[in-house]
Amino acid sequence: MLSNKFLFWVALNLFFGPLSANAQDTSRAVTLFNNVRIFDGRSPALSVPSNVLIRGNIIERISGEPIAVDRSADARIIDGGGRTLMPGLSDMHWHAMLVRPTPATVLGSDIGYTNLLAGAEATATLMRGFTTVRDMGGPSFGLKRAIDEGALSGPRIYPSGAVITITSGHGDFRPLSDLPRTLGGMRSRIEQLGGAMIADSPDEVRLRVREQLMQGASQIKLTAGGGVASPFSPLDVSTFTEAELRAAVEAAENWGTYVATHAYMPASIRRSIAAGVKVIEHGHLMDEATARLMAERGTWLSTQPFLDLSPAAALGPQEQEKMRQVVTGTDRVYMLAKKYNIKTAFGTDILFSRALAERQGQMLASMSRWYSPAEALIMATSKNGELLGLSGQRNPYPGKLGVVEEGALADLLVVNGNPAGSIGLVAEPDRNLVVIMKDGKLYKNTMSKPN
Ligand SMILES: [Zn+2]
Repeated sequence: MLSNKFLFWVALNLFFGPLSANAQDTSRAVTLFNNVRIFDGRSPALSVPSNVLIRGNIIERISGEPIAVDRSADARIIDGGGRTLMPGLSDMHWHAMLVRPTPATVLGSDIGYTNLLAGAEATATLMRGFTTVRDMGGPSFGLKRAIDEGALSGPRIYPSGAVITITSGHGDFRPLSDLPRTLGGMRSRIEQLGGAMIADSPDEVRLRVREQLMQGASQIKLTAGGGVASPFSPLDVSTFTEAELRAAVEAAENWGTYVATHAYMPASIRRSIAAGVKVIEHGHLMDEATARLMAERGTWLSTQPFLDLSPAAALGPQEQEKMRQVVTGTDRVYMLAKKYNIKTAFGTDILFSRALAERQGQMLASMSRWYSPAEALIMATSKNGELLGLSGQRNPYPGKLGVVEEGALADLLVVNGNPAGSIGLVAEPDRNLVVIMKDGKLYKNTMSKPN
């Protein structure tokens, strides 16, 4: 027979939520970092030795003076020993669902398998110190939800959902045997998976954009020009018409957010800007006049340090040739970005290989070819954080990201050494990142045991 006590407990749980969850509630948990020098994400110089108090998921207090905490509370004290405390890193061009599998694997496999690979990779991404990724295409809504709910560890995800493309555009992975398409007929495999949607008129664009927003997209991604990995998408082709791009921009802006376009060439970049696109992804083959236009309009450049053909290693000779063309533009795009002071974000666009993914921090370190270590780190923290703010009303994590300051979200790393002087430290996260915190929760701490 059930005791009254038990029934009372059941009633409490029904009305106030599970009691066991309350016992593990981390919303008021306190972490105090003592004796750290702060790289705040904005200034190249480290702070004087400081103490930083985290309560819940917020940086509550930063002080040169000792900060008292109630040791009887759920408090953890980490002695930084003079190490560097910095914001978590972010990657503005990521494809959480496509980091490990090749396109052929994604197209030919059960979505469950793809999700499990993506989950494992999300954990690995966080353990490299990347606490936020902006997902620029792929069915990452479920992964994001599972991470946010704590079912597995991974970075914050700003999802775009399916990439929206045209027939034959970048993202149209159909074999020629699927042509001609029957209007209103079955969706292609990549569309069924939610990886890409094909739209060939302003009305179809509006429909597909709104579907992504309905699923929780924080921004919208269109491919305005050809791409490396798609079989029938030459780099020189501008795909959507201006009217089609504008239809997407209107639909996104009605939802309080923005459109980013994949574009390498001046023509596709210019058409995007004319239609009201806020962020250009890649831009490697742009010219002076286009760079000047981006600077004038305040258009963001979300580009990547592609230095060799390895991103296309898993693909065919035709795709490798396109990759070679893109790589020839890498020096130039960073040179133009600096010359015209274009708002520039850091990302990697790592695809199709677990081994390449392990080079995420190395790609950040490679930015020292064009930027000082501090400039590169500022880009991968506070500048990226500024770009994330463009999601406006659709920002899934309102609050400040990419900075160490009072009131900001507590995504933090503790580094052995000073990465603003030696950026190579971020290329070896296993060894050099001794603490990884996201949303106030510790995912790695080799500094101290819990109190
Ligand atoms: Zn991409």
